Amino acid sequence: MARIVPGFSRIIRSGALLALLIALFFLFSAPAYGASPKKKEGVYHPVTKGITLYRISQAYKVSIAKLMEANKLSSPSAVKVGQKLFIPGAKVVLPVEPYAPLSLSEKKKLEQSLDAGEPPPPPAEGSRERQDSEKPPWWGKELDIIWPIQGKINSPFGPRGKGSHGGVDIGSPSYQEVKAAMDGEVILARHTRTGYGKVVILRHDQEFSTIYGHLNVIIAREGEAVRQGQSVGGVGSTGRSTGPHLHFEVRHKGRPLDPLPLLPPTIEELLEKASKK
Ligand SMILES: [Zn+2]
Repeated sequence: MARIVPGFSRIIRSGALLALLIALFFLFSAPAYGASPKKKEGVYHPVTKGITLYRISQAYKVSIAKLMEANKLSSPSAVKVGQKLFIPGAKVVLPVEPYAPLSLSEKKKLEQSLDAGEPPPPPAEGSRERQDSEKPPWWGKELDIIWPIQGKINSPFGPRGKGSHGGVDIGSPSYQEVKAAMDGEVILARHTRTGYGKVVILRHDQEFSTIYGHLNVIIAREGEAVRQGQSVGGVGSTGRSTGPHLHFEVRHKGRPLDPLPLLPPTIEELLEKASKK
């Protein structure tokens, strides 16, 4: 017993110290708790069938990341019918268009466009489409786009052999995580019989789409909303490919664009710039 008592008093003493520390913590952090937080401005949007986080982000012009944070969501697809999502900053409940999956024929057309080999020719001079494409709405604005993986460009966009390369090939070891370049929604995620093999296609704002080809694993599911930077699959060598790499393509209105001018500079480019100064 005599040996236990000192032990007890030690526990009591350390307990008292802990209580003191907790009290001090609350005392010093009290202003943060005490200050009456301004009531956050926003509205609650009821989730109905086909309403995804991406669709809501489009309608209210709020990023998926912000919506996830405001609603403490673990993933962009953790949204259920019947749930009410808080839209920070919104003043009124806006109409949100539900996700409409591609029809079978649209999917077929999209898959065929993957194997068309080369980008479709530019629209004829003077045509309406041409005028539109000369000054696309995103022109001159900074596009919120990130690299899907870090790596060396093994094959650039443009003429290649007899045809043309609709994207860039980024060298990478197998299974490297491939990230969504922008907030968007998955319109195709499957093992195609095209040269792209296992491919994920995302649809984005302003009629952009991004394509991730030759994957060895697909994580994204069709119909799902994806946050910029979210994993959509892993690098592989499926389809027409001679080794593991990512074929990354950016299309605007279905027409492939060179992704390099749209993407932020790479670390190598930044270092090169810095060394020239
Ligand atoms: Zn390629």
